[in-house]
Amino acid sequence: MNYFSDHIARLIGELSKLPGIGAKSAARLAFHIIEMPEEQAEELAAAITDAKKNIRYCRTCFTITDEEECPICRSKTRDHSTIMVVETTRDLAAYEKTGRYEGVYHVLQGAISPMQGIGPSDIRLKELVERLRGDVREVIIATNSSLEGETTAMYISKLVKPAGIKVSRIASGVPVGGDLECIDEVTLLRALEGRTEL
Ligand code: ZN
Repeated sequence: MNYFSDHIARLIGELSKLPGIGAKSAARLAFHIIEMPEEQAEELAAAITDAKKNIRYCRTCFTITDEEECPICRSKTRDHSTIMVVETTRDLAAYEKTGRYEGVYHVLQGAISPMQGIGPSDIRLKELVERLRGDVREVIIATNSSLEGETTAMYISKLVKPAGIKVSRIASGVPVGGDLECIDEVTLLRALEGRTEL
């Protein structure tokens, strides 16, 4: 039985589609939003549409940004000859939070998953290969330790090695199947520093 108004039910429905938001949390958030001053609710709605409209992918590393090239790729102090390959912008953010990685990134926007019908051409691999033509000294593969992440890592090492570029894989210690963004900074740093050459 829908004992809320249809408007509230719709809001709860939309909120409960968000990751980690169950029916209860969705209802709590919906009532919180309804009780907000009108300007604040409008500000929230505007922030969502504005972010959605203005988001683009960096032309070099394919992370989410709002400019043609992201601040990391534009930076003159970063080491552009070391490329860390990650699955998502969230993984990039996790490594940036450690504050210790000085290279640049390549965001695949996914991982190879035969089960889900995601092949090498569905992620940003072609773009990675293009970047290898530049001055690249090392490619650090930091895909997740899930089956998809490992499959992707293996595929990348086969692509990079013939180019005569050093390829390394972050150390395990990152829990199997674990999302990189959920792992603490110390573990991430250890995984990075303990990387092994493939
Ligand atoms: Zn970039």
